[in-house]
Amino acid sequence: MLSTMQDVPLQIRRILDHGSTFHAAATVSTAVPGGLRVGTYAEVGANAARLAHALRELGVGAGDRVGTFMWNNQEHLETYFAVPCMGAVLHPLNIRLHGDQVVFIANHAADDVVIVDNTLLPLFAPLLPRLTTVRHVIVNGPGELAAPEGVTVHDYATLLDGRPGAYPWPDVDERQAAAMCYTSGTTGDPKGVVYSHRSIYLHAMALGMTGTFAMEPGDKFLAIVPQFHVLAWCAPYGAMFGGASLAMPDRFLAPEPLAAFIAAARPNKGAGVPTVWQGLLQHVQADPSADISSLRECVVGGSACPESLMRAYDEIGITLLHAWGMTEMSPLGTVARTPAGLAPGQDTRRRLSQGRFIPTVEARLVGPDGTVLPNDGESVGELQVRGPWVTGSYYGADDPEKFDDGWLRTGDVGFITPDGYLTLTDRAKDVIKSGGEWISSVELENHLMGHPAVAEAAVVGVPDEKWGERPLATVVVREGHQVAFAELRDFLAERVARWQLPERWTLITEVPKTSVGKFSKATLRRQVAAGEFE
Ligand code: ADP
Repeated sequence: MLSTMQDVPLQIRRILDHGSTFHAAATVSTAVPGGLRVGTYAEVGANAARLAHALRELGVGAGDRVGTFMWNNQEHLETYFAVPCMGAVLHPLNIRLHGDQVVFIANHAADDVVIVDNTLLPLFAPLLPRLTTVRHVIVNGPGELAAPEGVTVHDYATLLDGRPGAYPWPDVDERQAAAMCYTSGTTGDPKGVVYSHRSIYLHAMALGMTGTFAMEPGDKFLAIVPQFHVLAWCAPYGAMFGGASLAMPDRFLAPEPLAAFIAAARPNKGAGVPTVWQGLLQHVQADPSADISSLRECVVGGSACPESLMRAYDEIGITLLHAWGMTEMSPLGTVARTPAGLAPGQDTRRRLSQGRFIPTVEARLVGPDGTVLPNDGESVGELQVRGPWVTGSYYGADDPEKFDDGWLRTGDVGFITPDGYLTLTDRAKDVIKSGGEWISSVELENHLMGHPAVAEAAVVGVPDEKWGERPLATVVVREGHQVAFAELRDFLAERVARWQLPERWTLITEVPKTSVGKFSKATLRRQVAAGEFE
């Protein structure tokens, strides 16, 4: 028997309609030199309609890809709605990737139009002649760009000027492509993940739940995580749906200007990777005039949140909320919110875990022999997931290795408690296999970063004749501090089994980072292989 319920498709235009009318006065603040500019969701809605009219006139049709090469700002938010709502596909390009990779990705996705921030023209201009499918470039802000043959350059504001602030949004199938992001391709070519209207809609609703980011009216959400990285964790859609305002730092991401933007925009929530929160903390500790006191609760994810970082933020009255996810998962899988009624510090185990699986995301652990392991809080296996916002394949690329009987293999290793909290012990490729046992590089790093003299620490496996692999610890010492390796070793010895202690240590000035600010173990491993630490 079928239900009597209306079969209403889940479309992004409904998020836009809701946000730009019922939350018309909610704001998007964008950082500009020395301050900020503020727009309303009503304006975002009208500009999204104007942009859609302009794109249609440029010949953008259903399913065409519109790339962006932009920071987090109001215009980027407008593309987030204009492009999918008109039936085309939004494709944010990662501005921090090597040029060759940007070219590969834009050509692979066959981007038709690219919208570029004027401040990124020096990076973008040399790539443009190699973008084989691009017909139009729209520049946001004043700037000059020489157009190769077959490409027309437009100015964003001029293109929108005088166009109607409403658009007859088409009724797209909810399973249609709405947006795409590529994985950062640390191994092999980057792979495209294509999100649907349905997956983004459901994920945006989930971001409003109290068990997740709880985005709601009255909030102002600081989206530090770039819009080119898993759609800024989908926070722009969650904010528009939930009626939360947004604070967009544009290019002002270094700790000092970021702190100044926070002081001016006064967000109460936010999201970013651990390295960003770490940098901000150090700045605030060094400069008592820095004011980030408006922040109350910030999501930290993308890599493991060290306990020391969480504690340091606790001390300044800001709760870090640990979350785990991946590009292939839109990205949210778990959030480490603790049960109501527990005071901070009362529930360390849950807060430091990657978090509890959120509704609709199913998970299982699989052992090396393919058996499904119990969620007993002890059995360690590879994590597999499935759900309505988990990808089932990659765009134009086969990768059967990544899927197992309808489940996505995350490449993450860990355990799950009976009440659904996930703890990741490592990434499958980062785990150090020593004498048939596994050493968690993340655990060693987290302990090391808890030492007062250590600013950053990254641990990688290095080949060892006797044991197969042994850990090498690379350490960045905090400014104004000194520490001997023997002291760090003793510090670790109080916290991990002796056989896990690294014999090899090296001081470095900075841990290499990926394009989205995570520790790049691949780069470290390459440096080790090239003998740089001998
Ligand atoms: P990339 O693979 O390029 O880093 P993603 O941003 O999709 O791209 O990364 C997803 C991976 O990041 C996860 O599979 C996991 O290994 C890691 N990750 C994400 N969040 C966390 C977290 N809270 N703790 C530990 N690792 C995390």
